[in-house]
Amino acid sequence: MTAAPPTRFPASTVLGYPRIGPDRELKHALESFWSGRITYDELRATGARLREDTWRRLDALGLGAVPSNTFSFYDQVLDTAVLFDAVPERYRGLAAEDAYFAMARGAAGIAPLRMTKWFDTNYHYIVPEIGPDTAFRLAGDKPLAEVRQARALGLDTRPVLLGPVTFLLLSEPTPGAPAGFAPLDRLPDLLPAYERLLEALAAEGVGWVQLDEPALVADRTEEELAAVRAAYLRLGSAPARPALFVATYFGDPGEALPVLAGTPVEAIGLDLVRGSLPADADLGGKTVVAGVVSGRDVWRTDRDRALASLRSVRERAAHVVVGTSCSLLHVPYDVEREADLDPALRRRLAFAEQKVAEVVELASLLAAAPAASAASARVADAGSPPPLPDEPAAVPEEPAARSPYAVRAAAQAEHLRLPVLPVTTIGSFPQTGELREARAALAAGRLDEAGYETLVRSEIARAVALQERLGLDVLVHGEPERNDMVQYFAEHLDGFAVTRHGWVQSYGSRCTRPPILHGDVRRPEPITVRWAGYARSLTDRPVKGMLTGPVTIVAWSFVRDDLPLRDVVFQVADAVRDEVRDLEAAGVSIIQVDEPALRELLPLRRAARDGYLAWAVAAYRRATSGASDRTQIHTHLCYSDADEIIAAVDALDADVTSVESARSHARLLREPAVGGFGRGLGPGVYDIHSPRVPDVAEVEESLRAALRVLPAHRLWVNPDCGLKTRTYEEVEAALANVVTAARNVRGDHECRPLTVE
Ligand code: GLN
Ligand code: ZN
Repeated sequence: MTAAPPTRFPASTVLGYPRIGPDRELKHALESFWSGRITYDELRATGARLREDTWRRLDALGLGAVPSNTFSFYDQVLDTAVLFDAVPERYRGLAAEDAYFAMARGAAGIAPLRMTKWFDTNYHYIVPEIGPDTAFRLAGDKPLAEVRQARALGLDTRPVLLGPVTFLLLSEPTPGAPAGFAPLDRLPDLLPAYERLLEALAAEGVGWVQLDEPALVADRTEEELAAVRAAYLRLGSAPARPALFVATYFGDPGEALPVLAGTPVEAIGLDLVRGSLPADADLGGKTVVAGVVSGRDVWRTDRDRALASLRSVRERAAHVVVGTSCSLLHVPYDVEREADLDPALRRRLAFAEQKVAEVVELASLLAAAPAASAASARVADAGSPPPLPDEPAAVPEEPAARSPYAVRAAAQAEHLRLPVLPVTTIGSFPQTGELREARAALAAGRLDEAGYETLVRSEIARAVALQERLGLDVLVHGEPERNDMVQYFAEHLDGFAVTRHGWVQSYGSRCTRPPILHGDVRRPEPITVRWAGYARSLTDRPVKGMLTGPVTIVAWSFVRDDLPLRDVVFQVADAVRDEVRDLEAAGVSIIQVDEPALRELLPLRRAARDGYLAWAVAAYRRATSGASDRTQIHTHLCYSDADEIIAAVDALDADVTSVESARSHARLLREPAVGGFGRGLGPGVYDIHSPRVPDVAEVEESLRAALRVLPAHRLWVNPDCGLKTRTYEEVEAALANVVTAARNVRGDHECRPLTVE
C-alpha cells in the first residue's frame, strides 16, 4: 500500500447503535404491521424516523463519524442475505416485504429460517441458507438509501455492512446441499456482488465503509484465513470503492490480524475491552479504530486505562480512532431516564447515549495528550480484565457433593413412585393478557400487592387444575408471578437493580431488560417457596419447584466487572442453593434449576472452553448439591447440540435433564453420546415456538424414536420449552395429546418394574 486513504477517518465513532427505539417504537410498529393494524408504508415511516433521530443525536453529541445501515426491520444478517439475493426458493413467490418477514418468522405453510445466537451475546440472528446454486447479486439498495436519507439531513454517514467472510461462516448449507459443501466455498461468487455495492457507494460519494467481521475472533482454519486474505485482497483492489474499515469484535482477531494487515484495507477495528493489541503486531500503516468503550456492558469507561490503551495503539498505527468495542446494539439507550435507580449506582452507569459521549471525550483527550512513554504503552496492553477467565483455577470446593446417581435414583424412585415415561412440562404456563395488565397496573400503582397476589394465585390454581385434569405426573405452578425468568430473581436478590426503560433487542421485535448486577449477591428471604407451597396445597401429585440457574442469571444480566465472572456466578449459586434448601424444607421433592444460557457463555475460542465449563458446572453443582438424595433435581436447556454439551450436561449431575428436540427434528437422538447418557432425559416431544398442536400419533412416534436409544426408565415426556408464549387453548389441546401418547407408549413398558440399573 502506497496510497494514503482517500479521506482521513474522523477521530471518533461507534460501530453501531440501538435501533428498537428509546420507547420500543420499532417493536410496536412491527407488531402493529404484523397484525394488520398499520400499513407497510407506516412501518417504513417509523423506521425512517428512528434512523433520523439516531443520526441527529449522534451528530449532536459530537461524534466524528456517524454510522448508517445499522438499522434493520428484523436483523442485519437477514438484511445481508436479502441484499445479495440469498433468498431460498420457498420465499420467492412472495412480495418483497412478505418474503423478508417470512424468512424471519415464517408465513402460512412456509417455515422460517433458523434463528440462533449472535456469537456469545443474547442477540439472535436469522441463519441464511446458502447452497451451491445460490445466485448472488446485488439485489437491493438499503445501504445506499440510508446514505441518501442521511445526506438529505446534511449528514455524511459510513454504511455498515456485514463482511463477506462472517456472512458465509454464519450461514448454513441449504437442505440437500452435497455433503462437504460449506457456504464459504461460495466466496468467489459472492465477492462480485460486494464489489458492485462498493462501486455504487463510491459513486454516491461515500468515503468509508465498515465491514463487520466478528467471526475473525473465533478459531479459524488455514483455509478460512486464506478466504479472509482473498476477500480483502479482492475488495481492496476494486477499482472504484470507498476506504474499507474492517471491524473485528467480541475478542482478539489473533492470527487473523496479520492476515488483514496484509491486505489493502485502510482501517482495522479492534475490541480492546475483550482483547488487546499484541505488542508485536505489524499494522502496516493502517488506521486502527480502537474499541476502548465497551458495547457489551453498562459501566462507565475507566478513562485513564482507555487513554493509556489509545496512546499505545497510536504508537503503532498510522492513525488511531476512538471507538466502541462493538456495536452499541447490546446496551439500552439512555441511563438518564432511569429516575428510580439509586443515584450512586446511576453515576457508575453508561448506556448508549453516555458511551457516545465517552468516545467523543476520549478523542479530545487523546488529541491533547502527549505521545505515550514506553512504560505507559506496556501498561496499556493489560486492557480491561477479560470478562471470561479461561484458567480453571480457583473453582471453590463443592459444598457437600450428592451421593452417586444410582443411590439417588433408588431413593427417588422409592419416594416419588412415578410411572414410567412420566409426563411433565418445563415450567411456565401461558402468561395471560390479564396477568400482563395486572403487572402493568401494579407497576403504575393502579393495583395493590394484595390484588395482584390474588390474581397470581388464581392463575396457579388454574394451571394446577388443568394439569390434574389432563393427567400429568409431575405438576408445575406455572410461573405466573414471573415477568421474566431472570428479572424475577434479580428483583428478589440483593446486589441487583432493575431498570424501567433499559430494553435491549433480543431478536426481531423482542426485547429484554437485563438486570444490573452491581453488588454482592444475597438472598434476603425465600423467593419462590410460597408459590410452590400454594400449588402443593392444591394437589396430591408432586409439584416441581422452578428456579433459574446461576449461569443463566448472570448471562442475562449486566454484570459488575470488578470481580471475575466466576466469582459472581458462585455468589449467585449460593443464593440459589439457599432457595433449593428452603423448597426442600417446604416439602418440594422435585426441583428444576434451569440453565438455558449455559452454552451461550461458552467462549468463542476453544482454548478457553474447558476452563469456562469447569466453573460453570461447579456453580451449578454448588447451587444444587445441597439437595438430599431423595430430592430429584431437574435441569432444562433450550437447545440440544449434544455433541457440544453432553459432557458438560453429564457433569451437571442433575437427575433429569429436559432439552429441546422436536424443533431440531430429534437430531439429539441421533447422537451416539445420548445412548450412553446415564440419567433421566426428556427430549422435547413438541415445538412450543409454533401455535401448532401436535397430534397423538406424532408424539407417540417421537417417544418410540427416543426409546430406540434410551431405556424406558430414563425417558421423560415433556415439551421443548416453557409454555408462556402460548394460549391456554393451544396448551390444553397439546398436553392432552402428549398425555394420551405417553399412556399409549407406556402400555408397552408398564410391566417392567421401575428399577435402576
Ligand atoms: N422454566 C422456564 C419456562 O418454562 C424455562 C424457560 C427457558 O428455558 N428459557 O418458561
Ligand atoms: Zn427452554
